[in-house]
Parts: sequence; structure tokens; C-alpha cells
Amino acid sequence: MYTPSDKRYDTMVYNRVGNSGLKLPAVSLGLWKNFGANEVFSNMEEMVQTAFDLGVTHFDLANNYGHPHNGSAEENFGRILDKGLRPYRDELIISSKAGYDMWPGPYGNKHGSRKYLTASLDQSLKRMDLDYVDIFYHHVFDPDTPLEETALALDHAVKQGKALYVGISNYNQKQTAAIKGIFEDLHTPFIVNQPSYSMLNRWVEDDGLDTYSHKNGIGLAVFSPLYQGFLTDRYLNGIPEDSRVASDHTWLEKELDEAMLERLNKLNGIAKDRGQKLSQLALSWVLKNEAVATVLIGASRPQQIIENVESIQNLEFSKDEIDAIEKIIKE
Ligand code: NDP
Repeated sequence: MYTPSDKRYDTMVYNRVGNSGLKLPAVSLGLWKNFGANEVFSNMEEMVQTAFDLGVTHFDLANNYGHPHNGSAEENFGRILDKGLRPYRDELIISSKAGYDMWPGPYGNKHGSRKYLTASLDQSLKRMDLDYVDIFYHHVFDPDTPLEETALALDHAVKQGKALYVGISNYNQKQTAAIKGIFEDLHTPFIVNQPSYSMLNRWVEDDGLDTYSHKNGIGLAVFSPLYQGFLTDRYLNGIPEDSRVASDHTWLEKELDEAMLERLNKLNGIAKDRGQKLSQLALSWVLKNEAVATVLIGASRPQQIIENVESIQNLEFSKDEIDAIEKIIKE
């Protein structure tokens, strides 16, 4: 049985999420990849326990996380909780989501109906053997469901005691503003939006979502802050066999061309000058945006988590460093 480290709260930084009373660790762990049914259980367990020992109190899940079957990440997380973490439930912020394809038929696929969200949250709670999640998200904006229906479904989850807070994910500024108005009328504890954001993916700045969120008291929990691993020392000399790019063969592979490799190596030079690894530079850089409450990292091994948490030791940037980074990204 696992016993958490006594030092778990010694170094982590906790940021307030928007205007809410909730604080999240600057670095949180997401279980999208590497927590599926075919993964080695001891490695998954060690990753979660390593994270918690470092003050990572927030674990981000979704109904469809896990390969080869949807939900296997939540099942595995439930098993990890059983191995000594459950007594610490009040020290954990566990989130789940619904909104992408999950189960067959018209009620469990990509949308935001009350039917789908309500049934899915019940399934997630069962898989993790929890009474409630701390944050329940609508995973992606659905143009076909009235926004009010989605908002009411999330609000209902809170009223039922199945979620403490609600969030939205992949909503742009306009969509966020629209649902925020409904939540205000309902007095729903809507506190967070979950967009992608990294040095290589700046859409939240272009859209104005970050400025809007900060001004309006909504926190950002940012996903893929390492651009799925590009912004680490993993790809500086090509594609390692045991990496996400090698195993997943997604659009990422095409982006890893000569120009990208050169960019990553130059950014690595800046990281070195700051006494950081490239992954740490990338996370510190995202965390300097005042709208960001937490970076949701992924990992395939415990050491990556240890390394990534160390990013909080150097969160300050000089103007010269910021300018140099911008120049490299835009080249
Ligand atoms: P990252 O950008 O942090 O990428 C994680 C990957 O980077 C790891 O799997 C690992 O790749 C590599 N990596 C991490 N740390 C290091 C390190 N120190 N050194 C070398 N390589 C490293 O995030 P993800 O794309 O995994 O997303 C994180 C979380 O965000 C998800 O788990 C999920 O919770 C959330 N998310 C939400 C989405 C949404 O629509 N709301 C969509 C996507 C993610 P490797 O496996 O190759 O070792």
C-alpha cells in the first residue's frame, strides 16, 4: 500500500482558478495517454503516486480516455485510488468530461445533450468508484445542442452533488461568453475553461480567450503545454521508437520536419541558458500567462513528472528571453 510523502506540500505552487475559491497546482497530471487497458499497471500507479508526492493534487480525466476501450483510464485511475490514495480523497481534485464519442447509438456520441452528459457522468463515477468529481467538463462545444441545455445538464450535476464545479473545454471566447451568461443566471459554480496552449500553439491569444477569461474570473487549465512532447528533449535528434509520435502516427508526425527540429533545438539553447530543460522552459512559459491556473501535462514515465514539476522553480522571464523565444517561434 502506498503512503504519500510527508513533504508533498513543501514546494508546489497553487494558483487560484479564476475568481473561485479553488486552487490548483501549477502542474497537474492528465491521463489521456498512457493510462489505457494495455499499459503496465505499476508504471501508471507510480506516475500518479510520484505526482501526488510532489504536490500534484489535480488529476484530469475524461469519459473517453484510455486505449483500446473508452473509459479504461478512469478504470485504472479507480484501481490506483484503491492502492492507498482513496483515504486522501479530500486532498485530490479529480476532473472528468463528456462531449466526444463515447458509446454507440445516438446518445453517447459527440454532442452536449442532457441525456449524454448525465448518463456519462454516472458511468465515470462508477468506473472510478467515486461519489462525486471535483470538476465536470463539457468536452467540446456542440453547435447542435442548445447551449442552455448543456449548461443546465452541468448545473444539474452540481445540484445532484455529483460535481463540485463545472468547466468547459475547447470553447472559444465567444462560446465561453455565451455559456457564462447562462451559468450566471443559474448561479452555477462555473470556474474553468480547458483549451490547448503552448509556445507552438497560440490560438487562445489570437482568439482573445486568455484575456477575456482573466478579466471575467475564469481560470484556464491548459492542455498539451508540451505540444504532446515536441517541447521536450525527446525529439531533438529525431523520433525515438518509444515516443508518442512513433506510436500514434497522427498529424503530429508531419509537423516534425527540419524547420521544426531546428526551432526546437534553438529553444533548447534558451532553456540551457536559463538552467532548464526544454520541457521546463515550455511549462514556465505557459505559466507566465496570468490567465493560466494550471498546465495539464501528460507523461509516459515518473521521471518526466519529476522533471516537469521542477519547472516551477524558474517562472520569471526577462524581456530579452521572451523576445528571443518569439523570434525563434516565428522564424
Ligand atoms: P503534453 O503536451 O504534456 O505531452 C505529454 C507527452 O510529452 C508525454 O506523454 C511524453 O511523451 C512527453 N513528455 C512529457 N514530459 C516529458 C519530459 N519531461 N521529457 C520528455 N518527454 C516528456 O500533454 P498531453 O498532450 O499529454 O495532454 C495532457 C493532458 O491534457 C491530457 O492527459 C488530458 O488530461 C488533457 N487533454 C485535454 C484535451 C481536451 O480536449 N480537453 C485534449 C488533449 C489533452 P511520450 O509519451 O512520447 O514519452
